[in-house]
This record gives sequence, structure tokens and C-alpha cells, in this order.
Amino acid sequence: MFRIIAANATLAIVHLIIILRSLKPKLTDMINLVLFGPPGAGKGTQSEKLISKYGFVHISTGDLFRWHTKNDTALGQQVKQIMNSGALVPDEITIAMLKEELDKNPEAKGFLFDGFPRTVPQAEALDSFMKENGTAIHFVVALDVTEEEVRNRIAKRRSIENRVDDEEEKLNKRITEYFSKTIHVLPYYREQGRLNTVHGIGDINEIFNNICALLN
Ligand code: ADP
Repeated sequence: MFRIIAANATLAIVHLIIILRSLKPKLTDMINLVLFGPPGAGKGTQSEKLISKYGFVHISTGDLFRWHTKNDTALGQQVKQIMNSGALVPDEITIAMLKEELDKNPEAKGFLFDGFPRTVPQAEALDSFMKENGTAIHFVVALDVTEEEVRNRIAKRRSIENRVDDEEEKLNKRITEYFSKTIHVLPYYREQGRLNTVHGIGDINEIFNNICALLN
């Protein structure tokens, strides 16, 4: 009799542990992250490392727009001039492209947004898309980098990559866009307690570890 009770109790405990484990959030299956920062802050570099560690689906609106312009799609033709000038693409176009990209990845276990949102309406749209799918933006990581550092980095990149919008005048426009429009996204997330700032100057791996420490 005692053995039967003990066996049943053990079984019940094992079941309880299994249920509790399944309730515990696993990083890779529910985190959506926004990586935020000025041009040249290192969003692309850190995104690559985060993706290979956590398996996020990467959504970089800059890469998507570059893909469209390179492949001369209708959208590419529409945004080419704007991008090459260093200005932001209008919200309506950007949000529609983002929504399409989200819809292509219904099985995604977590998204990493890189270069989106860049305006408050974009941040609001992203929140509502996440909500529609029963999820949310869990973390916003802002890479804190000075304007001087950004300019030095892009000057270096200019000699290697030859991006049209890295030219001096266009870069000035991108930096102005960041400080006049994109910066206002920070208080939006700060007020909701979702903003984390990581010092973005120094060793790449150290910056990466600091981001991982936040996520863990
Ligand atoms: P950066 O190095 O400036 O962070 P990106 O590669 O992210 O550049 O973006 C390149 C260009 O693509 C931007 O200057 C802008 O024209 C356009 N773009 C990218 N993401 C957005 C966005 N979320 N909203 C509006 N325009 C965008």
C-alpha cells in the first residue's frame, strides 16, 4: 500500500516538474528584440552575433530596402532616391514592407529588429503587429555611441564598402534624421520600462556579452 502511494506521489512530482519546465520561458522561443542606435553604432555587427547565438529571425529594414533597390523592384524604384539622399523612407512604405516580412515568418521563434523602428509611428505599428500575434517587443537595446565615434567608423567603412549613402553629405543627412526623428523613439520605450542602454564603444565581444547579460 505504502509503495503504491509513494510511486503515485513520485509520478505526480515528475509530472509537476514537466509542467513547470514547459511554462518556464525559453529565450529562443519567445523573445523579440529591437536593436537601436545611430548609423554606424554597430547594429549590424551585433545582430549577426545575436542571431548565431539565439537563432532570431533578423529583420533589417536597411538590408530589405537595399535588396529591393539592387533587384530593381517597384518598391526599390520608389525608395532608391530617398535612401541615396540619406533621408528616412516614409513610414507608410516602411511599415507596409515590415508587415509583409513579418507575415513571411509565421513560425519565427523570435525577431531581432535592426534599424526599425526609426519613428514613433513605426514603434506603435510594431507594437500593434506584435499584439495581433499574441506577442510583444520584450527588449529594446540601445547602443550608446557618440557622434564623433560614428563619424570615424563610417569614414573607415567608406573606404571599404563604398555605400552611396556613406558619402559625407548623405551621412550628415542620416545623422540629422537620427537626431531629429529617430531619437524620439527612445522615450517611447523608456516610459514603458523596455529600454536598456549598452555602452557601444570598445571591444565587440565585450559589447556583445553585455547585451547577452541583459537578455539572460
Ligand atoms: P544606417 O547605417 O543609417 O543605420 P540602414 O542600413 O539601417 O542604415 O538604412 C539605410 C537607409 O534605409 C536609411 O538611411 C533609410 O533611408 C532607409 N531605412 C532603413 N530603415 C528605415 C526605417 N525604419 N524607416 C525609414 N527609413 C529606413
